[in-house]
Amino acid sequence: MDDCIFCKIISGEFNTDFVYENEDVVVFKDINPKADTHLLVVPRKHVASLNELDDELLMGKLLMTVKEVTKKLGISSYKTIINTGKEAGQVVFHLHIHILAGNIKL
Ligand code: 5GP
Ligand code: ZN
Repeated sequence: MDDCIFCKIISGEFNTDFVYENEDVVVFKDINPKADTHLLVVPRKHVASLNELDDELLMGKLLMTVKEVTKKLGISSYKTIINTGKEAGQVVFHLHIHILAGNIKL
């Protein structure tokens, strides 16, 4: 999607470092961290939010990526958040899972 910031990050437009990536999912640091570790787990495919999700395999891939990246980083205790819709605090309309660990400030 042309005007989507996460699609631009995924396409490499901003040279963002990926903490982890696989065929379907990328993981990068949140620009405005709310914890010592604050990562965003993002599908390469543009899906605006959970409300638009129609791929039943995708959430499994995202959650398995959460498990893999936290294991790789040695993080065993963490919070996951998915904001859906403006009123719930979603500001980027490309589906993503937040991973927060250590000194979580919400
Ligand atoms: P939301 O509120 O939509 O669930 O979360 C969007 C998150 O994306 C926010 O925590 C925000 O700090 C982060 N974010 C917004 N723009 C960028 C960006 O250009 N780069 C990175 N790394 N994170 C971003
Ligand atoms: Zn997008």
